[in-house]
Amino acid sequence: MTQLESARAGIISPQMEQVAQREGLDAEFIRQGVARGTIVIPANIDHSNLIPRGIGQGLSTKVNANIGTSSVFGNIDTELEKLRVAVDSGADTVMDLSTGGDISAIRRAIIASSSLLVGTVPIYQAGIEAIAKYGAIVKMTVDELFAVIEEHARDGVDFITVHCGVTRSAIARLKQQGRVADVVSRGGAFLIGWILHNDRENPLYEQYDRLLEIAREFDVTLSLGDGMRPGSLADATDRAQVEELLIAGELVQRAQEAGVQVMVEGPGHLPLNQIETNVHLQKTICKGAPFYVLGPLVTDVAAGYDHITGAIGGAIAAAAGADFLCYVTPAEHLSLPDPEDVRQGVLASRIAAHAADIVKGVKDAGEWDKKMSMARKRLDWEEQAKLSLDPERSRQVHSKHASAGTACSMCGEYCAMALVEEFLGISAPRC
Ligand code: SF4
Repeated sequence: MTQLESARAGIISPQMEQVAQREGLDAEFIRQGVARGTIVIPANIDHSNLIPRGIGQGLSTKVNANIGTSSVFGNIDTELEKLRVAVDSGADTVMDLSTGGDISAIRRAIIASSSLLVGTVPIYQAGIEAIAKYGAIVKMTVDELFAVIEEHARDGVDFITVHCGVTRSAIARLKQQGRVADVVSRGGAFLIGWILHNDRENPLYEQYDRLLEIAREFDVTLSLGDGMRPGSLADATDRAQVEELLIAGELVQRAQEAGVQVMVEGPGHLPLNQIETNVHLQKTICKGAPFYVLGPLVTDVAAGYDHITGAIGGAIAAAAGADFLCYVTPAEHLSLPDPEDVRQGVLASRIAAHAADIVKGVKDAGEWDKKMSMARKRLDWEEQAKLSLDPERSRQVHSKHASAGTACSMCGEYCAMALVEEFLGISAPRC
């Protein structure tokens, strides 16, 4: 049985127990969320070293780090190093987006080394293999695409991005729309080319039941990709994007009826004032299915700093109800991320996720901040480091300049905390 089928049968699986423990919540709460489809626990039955995490309503906001080779850089060693950095930085999941080298070997090495949830986008590999075999993605056969999907499922991938909503109707909307940046999703672009060249419907949509069978067998969670996501603020929340979301809503329902866990991916580039609307739209159309947002990026002009752009959008999205943030690194739009980019991307998204968790009322989120404030008042630098998202960085920055006494070098002898303590005799409560 899949997690969804177990939950519906009233069974609390070991994975639900583990998620409950991790979140500090009751296992029955997790079971009910999984049964309703508002929580997913992506846990392939063949991912043996997985530490399960739940994604969805009532849980802490999760963070994904994209790793993987490109056609010009990377190998197993570079990607395992990025995995290590993602784990150390506190990511909840990684997606292997490899498009270069021995893609199957890289994926298997990542799964074997990862206790984090692992996601992939199988159409990348299917498309690249079609280029190697026929010289063009558009020559890929439907059976070849499904064979790659099955290979990923058998290898132990926990969730797969499938751009099922890139249909002929969505492409028609896209053509009529007239966008600034057209399509920025690689998977979406592969499929649009295939659909138009072959004058056929998207096989992931047309043969969705076949996809559901594979997903159900291995309990792979479907992540309905947003092939029409805006890649420019000028294209945000347009007709093509909304058309794909409407189709995703129908596919969520069909997946859940088939006992398959499902979440939905979202934009993309969005102005600040459209983020909340996008979250509410997805939650309404997709009946509360977990929402996995890619950023969102709130301006197009911050190249080199897009981890910040993404964190601003991610915090607003998660506070409005998004459940899962795909990180953005400083290398976004510029190059393949290196391990330092991965570290900065994960931390920026974790800040966004935690800021949102405080206002979402996630258990213990606000308490963490209170403990930090108390440690600050006590000028307890080691406790502050321990409570930091990045303890090592906290220690490094604090020790940059020496200071007399216990205050830091920012205000030195005029430390407000120390002065108030001395003159007013006010001391902070001990945690
Ligand atoms: S010196 Fe200034 S910045 Fe440093 S702890 Fe005291 S008040 Fe805060």
